[in-house]
Amino acid sequence: MYERDTIAAIATPPGQGGVAIIRVSGPQAEIVARQVFVFSHSPDPLLSHRFYFGRIIDPLTRSPLDQGLLVLMRSPQSYTGEDIVEIHCHGGSLLSRRVLTAVLAQGARFATPGEFTKRAFLNGRLDLSQAEAVLDLIQAKSDQGLSLAWEQLAGRLSAACAALRERLLVLTAYLEAFIDFPEDDIPERSQTELAHELQVLIADVDSLCATFSQGKVYREGIRTAIIGKPNVGKSSLLNLLAGSERAIVTAVPGTTRDVLEETVVIGGVPLVVWDTAGLRHPTDEVERIGVERARAGLREAELVLAVFDASRPFDEEDKAVCAELVAKSVIPVLNKIDLPLVVHPPDLEKRLRAEPLVHLSAKSGIGLEKLTERIQQATLGTQSVFIEGQDGGAIVSRVRHRDALTKTVQNLRQASTSLIEGVPPDLVAVDLHAALDHIGEITGHVSTEDILDKVFREFCIGK
Ligand code: GDP
Repeated sequence: MYERDTIAAIATPPGQGGVAIIRVSGPQAEIVARQVFVFSHSPDPLLSHRFYFGRIIDPLTRSPLDQGLLVLMRSPQSYTGEDIVEIHCHGGSLLSRRVLTAVLAQGARFATPGEFTKRAFLNGRLDLSQAEAVLDLIQAKSDQGLSLAWEQLAGRLSAACAALRERLLVLTAYLEAFIDFPEDDIPERSQTELAHELQVLIADVDSLCATFSQGKVYREGIRTAIIGKPNVGKSSLLNLLAGSERAIVTAVPGTTRDVLEETVVIGGVPLVVWDTAGLRHPTDEVERIGVERARAGLREAELVLAVFDASRPFDEEDKAVCAELVAKSVIPVLNKIDLPLVVHPPDLEKRLRAEPLVHLSAKSGIGLEKLTERIQQATLGTQSVFIEGQDGGAIVSRVRHRDALTKTVQNLRQASTSLIEGVPPDLVAVDLHAALDHIGEITGHVSTEDILDKVFREFCIGK
């Protein structure tokens, strides 16, 4: 599970930049680093958490590669809990790879994705939900997503799970006291109290689980498709949304060519929007690919902004758009309301049999406020716009955590039913132990190699 060797990787993103950092962690970190770094003023011993200036060399030829900084963070006061050395060189991609190669040639092993954080977990520097929060901080799409990740890293979710687990442990211990005396039935009063306490616990785990609907929105964003016939103003709408706060554009490798995914934050809600082509009948291969992508996007979309043109008559193409909207969460938008109205809004609403239209001018921004409200309603429902600080409560934002809580509740419900039906206490205890295991999976109190692999596979190399 944990090979105590020394690992190394480039911790900064690939490409050119101001600096690149080569990170080395493990018992040999200092020895390895001293082979590739020549200090300007020989320090002995090397002090922890202090920067030193010097030259980085190729240890085989002794020829200089660069000049830079070295910092040693001695165990246990480091990210991984092991000795860590970071070498800061100029941020060139060839240069940083040469420095890494030099480090690897001295006996360090190339780190696997997330291995530094995995070691931090295995050394008790972070629990599992905090390790995941590190990734969430890096990948956050909105300010709210950032604060959520930060709260989780600071241990809010861990504390909530620990408190629930503690209550469950007390309950289990109480029940197990009766197992030791099988000839005694559980006294009726104790049984009622136990059943009551179990019900309260179920309700509390359930309400933690229910925070997922919001947590997910802030962590992952809402997959959103903007659809409509050509020239209704889909790109203009996207630009309006992007301009209102900010946009992060990410290239997602597709099968045919890269698909651009843009995250726009609107009213605090991150919307992950694809560059969707129209849904018209394709006339050539390029269009066919575009339409296919649009359809795939639409299938996966959690929210659809269906755009109609107020200045042109409703036509067959609009009808085709309407046909795509079945069983989807749709906000219909009537765009170009700054132009003379040709479409009769009540007719369109009748046809859509959906939510009322949002009247918008993507050109002037009229109606943006209303659209923002509708997006918040559709994604966050009646809950407050941002949950931060709500009774100091923790928020669940990952499917893994939600699933563990759901299983915990199932086990607790089973235990509760068994208790009421007078099933022997040792059988009830089996369900309580299963519940303890499931809630323990969130923080890694209970973990298997399989769980760890799944968690750390998501990380990049060097983190
Ligand atoms: P798309 O093909 O659906 O992406 O449409 P575009 O966003 O490219 O817009 C098509 C044309 O409509 C462009 O000339 C825009 O400037 C214009 N347009 C978009 N929104 C509005 C609007 O609200 N009012 C007016 N007057 N023109 C608009």
